[in-house]
Amino acid sequence: MKIFKFGGASVNNVDRIRQLADILRLYPDDKKMVVISAMGKTTNALEKVVKAFFDGRKEEALQLFEHIKKQHLNTAKYLLVTSANATDARLLDFFTEVEWALHDKPVKDFDYYYDQIVCVGELFSSTIISAYLNEQGINNIWTDVRDIFRTDDHFRNAGIDREQTEKNIRDKVVPFFDEYDIVVTQGFIGATDENESTTLGREGSDYSAAVFGNLLGAEDVTIWKDVAGIMNADPKIFPAAVVMPELSYDELIEMAYYGAQVIHPKTIKPLENKNIPLVVKCFIDPALPGTVIHHKTIKNLPPVFVIKQNQALLHLHSRDFSFIGEHAVSRLYHLLAQKNITPNLIQTDAVTLMVCIDDMEDEIGQLAAAASEIFDVQVEKGLSLLTIRHYTEETAAEMTAGKYIVLKQQSPHTVQFLLR
Ligand code: ASP
Ligand code: MG
Repeated sequence: MKIFKFGGASVNNVDRIRQLADILRLYPDDKKMVVISAMGKTTNALEKVVKAFFDGRKEEALQLFEHIKKQHLNTAKYLLVTSANATDARLLDFFTEVEWALHDKPVKDFDYYYDQIVCVGELFSSTIISAYLNEQGINNIWTDVRDIFRTDDHFRNAGIDREQTEKNIRDKVVPFFDEYDIVVTQGFIGATDENESTTLGREGSDYSAAVFGNLLGAEDVTIWKDVAGIMNADPKIFPAAVVMPELSYDELIEMAYYGAQVIHPKTIKPLENKNIPLVVKCFIDPALPGTVIHHKTIKNLPPVFVIKQNQALLHLHSRDFSFIGEHAVSRLYHLLAQKNITPNLIQTDAVTLMVCIDDMEDEIGQLAAAASEIFDVQVEKGLSLLTIRHYTEETAAEMTAGKYIVLKQQSPHTVQFLLR
């Protein structure tokens, strides 16, 4: 059993979907669970629909949704022949559900509506793709993952109920494979035990694929992306970036922690627990080997560069010239936890605590206001945070040449520079 996950970019248009079929043909002998994201930027577009609806701009919400409908109907029209009518009918059912919701007045939380509406992106794309594959002779069955992934009702960031989901997989998914080689389903979404739709957090389809991998005991999980594999730097910023053929789970977690946008960080745990390799492959050129992530410790990795732009540094000075001790530190962590802010770097000296966080206007304002009850607060903006894993003194010097270093933090494996 293999799990294949196709992200938004790999199902973005008619040509990409045809390519997806070609990729499946390369693996004729395997049972495959195919996990699909919403097409291209559909999730962003649906977010705008929810926002307009929630702000009481109903006509605008309906209009924005109309556009999304048309895009999907057009894609279906180009791809489908014999199953065109049946697929349109299924899409129309989903459309109607959303439109009903949009005609109501919002009475519940934003996050609740977000999930009821945004979840359809994955339902649309997977419906079209499943039909297309069947027309191409790639027999598969479509299944609604909301009947499989049972979650809590933490809307927009729902947690999976492992026990119930495992049972659903055993009862509802495993039997499909007696008859079909391929089951097509959605990433990113699930449902509560009251059948309310939920989402697992933006970019959560990687995680969905990993959960399927874990619960189905897959031989591996492959994420098909528009890059050649996982690179040691963003090739748009570092033209000399190279693909790393092999990584350990730990290394990938570290990279994600420092801000590399490669794989959703929640993806690793379910795979690591069962020692299931994660493979990142290029859907534009499936012959490329891509990157394999597994348990092995990999020696001689090149320096890995991660840059986070838009950083803010909070300088928190103790008011009475007392040393920064456990009380001040614990107050700071408490504030961060309260505001749900993850610090990217923290450094302490005698009378100052320095905290680097993503520059989000609202959060910084709130944090600074709360912290000013105990500290004198100064905020510095417009910084960037450079992290180098497996650095050498030369690479570090080269990368920071000509820049002003506001802060530096160093361990044997990792060096970080906050740069102005
Ligand atoms: N479609 C969702 C998103 O764009 C989930 C995903 O792509 O993984 O966030
Ligand atoms: Mg995506």
